[in-house]
Amino acid sequence: MTNHKEIAYADFILHNLDSAVIYPNPYRGKGTKVGWETKELKKVSIASKKGKIVWIGNSNELSDNVKIAANAKFYNGEGLLAVPGFVDSHTHLLYAGNRADEFEMRVQGKTYLEILAAGGGILNTTNAVRSLSEEELFIETANRIELAMQSGVTTIEIKTGYGLDLKNELKMIKVIEMLKEAYPIRIVTTFMGAHAVPADRTNDSDSFVDEICKEWIPAVAETKCAVFNDVFTEKKAFSVEQSRKILNAGLKFGLKPKIHADEVNVLGGVDLAVEVGAVSADHLLMTNDEGIKKLAGSGVIPTVLPGTSTYLMESHHAPARKMIQAGLPVAIASDHNPGSCQFLGANIIQSMAMLQLRMSASESLIAGTLHAAHALSMGNEIGAIEVGRYMDIALFDLESFKQIGYHIGQNYLHDLIINGEPVYSD
Ligand SMILES: [Zn+2]
Repeated sequence: MTNHKEIAYADFILHNLDSAVIYPNPYRGKGTKVGWETKELKKVSIASKKGKIVWIGNSNELSDNVKIAANAKFYNGEGLLAVPGFVDSHTHLLYAGNRADEFEMRVQGKTYLEILAAGGGILNTTNAVRSLSEEELFIETANRIELAMQSGVTTIEIKTGYGLDLKNELKMIKVIEMLKEAYPIRIVTTFMGAHAVPADRTNDSDSFVDEICKEWIPAVAETKCAVFNDVFTEKKAFSVEQSRKILNAGLKFGLKPKIHADEVNVLGGVDLAVEVGAVSADHLLMTNDEGIKKLAGSGVIPTVLPGTSTYLMESHHAPARKMIQAGLPVAIASDHNPGSCQFLGANIIQSMAMLQLRMSASESLIAGTLHAAHALSMGNEIGAIEVGRYMDIALFDLESFKQIGYHIGQNYLHDLIINGEPVYSD
């Protein structure tokens, strides 16, 4: 028997951590089993090379197992907890203005129509976005990107959908590119031209859909900036038939489908998600047992958004427990947007998943990291601390990951590591 020992080469060492959370049985995509276990390793070091994790183990065993480059960087992890960087797989983070008046009206019991009559609603945001330049929109959004990072988010999805004409949708895509350029956080672009029917097209939504399919989607695909194509399938937005057209048109141009489904009414958005092979189906507030059965084994990631149902003061939340029991790889995300959810950041969404959806701390963590990564088609590259994945890690001044959701609204982030590089210190 030869005593062969695999030696890892490293250029960055996160050294002497108090603890690090790993997932012993991570979900690896369609056809594989969903694992909800976490394990906290103690006195651990993590080594990476060119941004990818090459070794995880007991700090005492580092020198025996890892060949460290002469110019390697060390980061002292003493007293720190490492968890996978959070992935916020559903946001409308790019917008302008605020709708605080609308929030107050809703709290006072005003109806949606009363709010619209007072100038509220999505079209209010559309007017604000249309009126600003790329630079002004960048400045409006930069602060929110920074807040997300400061909560432990290392990857964030941002949707378009407040332009609602081709020129302004392309402007939003351009601003997202400017954000990618300016910040180390991974940003994933989703085109969502079908977010709402513009006010002047409500009697003519079919021709609006045709325009999205024939003109907008080819133009968006040409930019090569967007990965996903999303649609709001709902009574007050797009029918299943219209949504099918839009998602299939995107597929022809290489844009992967996502869908806002079952938020208010069960129209058949889940069936459509399975039919077109959507990467994720999001909201799912009203999804029933039949819908859960359809999602099982489909490969579609069910993404639940507990911040939104809380913000809208709903008495009902997405049936996450039933989904978990049915073996679904449930993901959670913030759905941050100006109208229906101002929750921003990973820690508060962890708390909401626990309080409103009755998910355990382990389930919430896995849903907000690994499964959310799957919701962005990156489930085997990020979302867990594992050899071969990108070294995207959130470091907390905490003893256990169970404290992240527990300390509701408080933030104990110490630093972020993205692609094997510390963000806030070196
Ligand atoms: Zn949304």
